[in-house]
Amino acid sequence: MSPIISWTEKPVAEDVPAVVDRPAFERARDIPPRVGDRGDVAVYVARGAYEAVLRHGRSSRLEQGGILLGRAYGIAGEPGRYAVEVLRAIAAGGAASTSISFRFGRETWTGLRTGWRSEAPDLQLVGWYHTHPDLGAFFSGTDRATQRDFFARPWHVGLVVDPVRDEQAWFAGPHSHPVRFHPVFEEPALATAAAAGLALGAPLAVRRVRRDGRLALANGLAVRLAGVAFPPANARPKPIRRLACQARLALWRAVARGRCRLAGDPPDGAAVHIFLPDGRLLAERLLACGLARLDSATAAPCLARLEAVQHLASCRGIGVWRTKTRFYLDAHRRRLLAAAPTATEA
Ligand SMILES: [Zn+2]
Repeated sequence: MSPIISWTEKPVAEDVPAVVDRPAFERARDIPPRVGDRGDVAVYVARGAYEAVLRHGRSSRLEQGGILLGRAYGIAGEPGRYAVEVLRAIAAGGAASTSISFRFGRETWTGLRTGWRSEAPDLQLVGWYHTHPDLGAFFSGTDRATQRDFFARPWHVGLVVDPVRDEQAWFAGPHSHPVRFHPVFEEPALATAAAAGLALGAPLAVRRVRRDGRLALANGLAVRLAGVAFPPANARPKPIRRLACQARLALWRAVARGRCRLAGDPPDGAAVHIFLPDGRLLAERLLACGLARLDSATAAPCLARLEAVQHLASCRGIGVWRTKTRFYLDAHRRRLLAAAPTATEA
């Protein structure tokens, strides 16, 4: 039976940003480029998303399914080649499933859209998944038809998992080409970095610091420093604007010599942690100078330490704490209140 998905209600973006440079992509893939006109896709999977799929699959002996959310990138100068990061899996409820079939119904799709909007509205729909309990991980004719009819962008991926035999297989594009490269990353941000062609641990090539405090990288991607916010460049009063300039300058001085390294556990997509040559977090250095404030809803392991550094800067009344604008004081109070009951040790 062919699946029913009211697809047109949520149009899919036609274009994806081309941010990955080919050498980084090849390094990341570590497999030789292929010849031919086939779409070529690498998938970078965050473990949380993959385990959500496994949990869903193991919850029943019937076939289960859902959608995959993340981001797709085109490879600059390489039409038809893509890197896809999978960051979230949203389970379909109320699907018509048996032990050998699964289909999306109209209601299922409505539920999936609701989950998508409430849990990860900033992510793209990058594909779908379903399970084959004890059947093996392969795409059946029906699965290929689902992929062709509803996940037809060249970067749309289809994951099939056999939770009993512990097998997985990935397919991409309207013709369900097998995807051979699909590493699983512990941290969502590592999947992001890999998909975007950023080599973790490698020196950062930063072109410039943008007005919004993002770092424009040599490969075209703009990344934000995870967990901190800078004074806005257009802020009032004037002292804050001066601080905004100082903050960007300090950021530039720290990263300009290419001795910083990209690091692990940032809380979300295009946000990165950067380590200074001395092993400290760049965010910590900026907080210590009062040139940024904490801006993280995630209880990362390093958060308690960053809190302490920020607290010291605010007690000393330096940088943004000197001006005592509402923006910073309010943010600081909120953080202290939020942190108080759940403060964790670094
Ligand atoms: Zn199937």
